[in-house]
Amino acid sequence: DRTVSILGVNFIHINLRQMIDRLMEHVKNEEKKFVVTANPEIVLHTLEDETYKKNVEKADYVTADGIGVVKAAQMLGQPLPERVTGFDMFMGILEKANEQGSSVYLLGAKDEVLQKTKQNMNKQFPNVEIAGSHHGFFDWEDDAIIRDIQETKPDFIFVALGFPRQEQWIAENMPYAEKGIFVGIGGSFDVLAG
Ligand code: UDP
Repeated sequence: DRTVSILGVNFIHINLRQMIDRLMEHVKNEEKKFVVTANPEIVLHTLEDETYKKNVEKADYVTADGIGVVKAAQMLGQPLPERVTGFDMFMGILEKANEQGSSVYLLGAKDEVLQKTKQNMNKQFPNVEIAGSHHGFFDWEDDAIIRDIQETKPDFIFVALGFPRQEQWIAENMPYAEKGIFVGIGGSFDVLAG
């Protein structure tokens, strides 16, 4: 894949539609992938925190989360096609997942937000199977969440813990899953919850 490096973070040169199609293809092939939706704050944080930088480097895809990244790429003379934000990807994936009956696991946000997110998801995307969910305030050492994911084998695992936690959680736990597309999506559950 063609990438554009911004301060050492390699962004994929792709638009939202193509990115979603690519992920659905990985689902079909039962693959395991890690997606970071990186905004300027995330890029700057990789410069300050070596462990975080290593976590982001484990991603299969880093997408341009926001206009700041698109502008930076343009200034470097290597324009990216458009922004591919966590929330837009979340919605776009749910649309496709609804068509294909894919399954999702939701990790993150406060429990009442998470419950509301699931209700709205069931309304808007009734064919999406919610394989499981867990709120985002848990004991880091507890392996109940990843065990749940191992058992239910969801196609997508949406991790909405905010950065840098979501990338750390994915980097540490993804090795224990057989398959699944792990995507860090920041505050997206709060948005869908309304
Ligand atoms: N959150 C969480 N666990 C935590 C801290 C935060 O689940 O320990 C959730 C929080 O409830 C919110 C999201 O993570 O839903 C953070 O959203 P924010 O917009 O702060 O993250 P960003 O988009 O900046 O990564």
